[in-house]
Amino acid sequence: MFERIPAAPPDPIYNLTTECNRDPNPRKLNLGVGVYKNYAGDIPVLESVKAAEKAIWEEEISKNYLPIDGAPDFGRRVRELLLGQGSPLVDAPASITVQTPGGTGALRLACELIARNTPGARMWITDPSWSNHVQICRMSALGTHTFPYYDAGSKSLAVQDLYREVRQMPSSDILMLHGCCHNPTGVDLALEHWQRLARLAAQGKFLILVDFAYQGFGRGLDEDAAGVRHLAQAGLPLLICSSFSKNFGLYNERIGALTVLNLDAPVATRVLSQLKVYARTLWSSPPAHGARMVETVLGIPALRSQWEQELAVMRDRINETRSLLAETMQELGASTDFSFLARQYGLFSLTGIAPETVHAMRDRHSIYFMSNGRINVAGLTPDTIPYFCRSYLEASA
Ligand code: PMP
Repeated sequence: MFERIPAAPPDPIYNLTTECNRDPNPRKLNLGVGVYKNYAGDIPVLESVKAAEKAIWEEEISKNYLPIDGAPDFGRRVRELLLGQGSPLVDAPASITVQTPGGTGALRLACELIARNTPGARMWITDPSWSNHVQICRMSALGTHTFPYYDAGSKSLAVQDLYREVRQMPSSDILMLHGCCHNPTGVDLALEHWQRLARLAAQGKFLILVDFAYQGFGRGLDEDAAGVRHLAQAGLPLLICSSFSKNFGLYNERIGALTVLNLDAPVATRVLSQLKVYARTLWSSPPAHGARMVETVLGIPALRSQWEQELAVMRDRINETRSLLAETMQELGASTDFSFLARQYGLFSLTGIAPETVHAMRDRHSIYFMSNGRINVAGLTPDTIPYFCRSYLEASA
């Protein structure tokens, strides 16, 4: 068997990090991997998370397995964060939340559910999207279809093309939308787009899945959830994949959740029973530590408000960096207009920098980012932005 196994291509993002780590240049920049870095360039542990961790350590008396679908209080807190306090769906008996290892685990679980219960279904994925989306679907034997989302010319939503294609969508297919901070474009849907897509989903009877990996990184916790909340209030059956890797800085704790809303109660019971079977065979029961930290931070008012402040610091830093990068490009005389960066949200933007310039910036200046021009804005600081801009101008001249 081993002799016949072909080599898989390396993951492009992790590969870039490996290359960057090997680079001895002290001015090197890694703008590839999607992690938040503070002004010092560190990937910090949040103070609210540290405090929760301490409290957990003091109180924890057992490391017994969690239930297959995770801690019930965690599920409730996740729904509250998604839907807002006071939403009747938070405590509706038919609302399901399964704790998963990261947002990736939630996506995989959702794909298993779809692939096993709707033969021939395809996941509709934005063009472009996070590269792992297609891979996760493939591994679950779920077909994929890419639909227009981004207009590279205007660096904004390809709204008419998007609607045209979605109107043709078969009812057995699933529309995957990014809740906010679209990866890799930074171009988000406005509320009017969510409303229109909700109507199209109701007419076309197709299902929507929201990948929600960056709640709080765009405009605010509630503002970023406006689209998801609209779909939920519209009564549409809905799959939501949450990740707490970014907004809690819990990347290596692998904590996320799959939430399913608006099913009839007996249907929800059956769906949950199947999700538990898939989870049981994938990871059996979820890791506890990340969930306890999220649950503790969200459940203790002082920690919650501390976390919200820390989240605001991260969000403001990202948005300030976007503006500063656009301004510096202009000040240093870039002929391309980079003002779009300041109109987009989240860690990522597609800069439009040509692949040959990306490679020249890597080879000559040790600046590492994806060949498609995607940068992680939070990999830059006020100190390194001029270096990035000058390197770009030199490499593209
Ligand atoms: N969805 C998107 C769009 C992402 O960018 C990411 C993380 N890069 C994930 C899901 C998965 O996040 P996690 O690390 O929690 O698995």
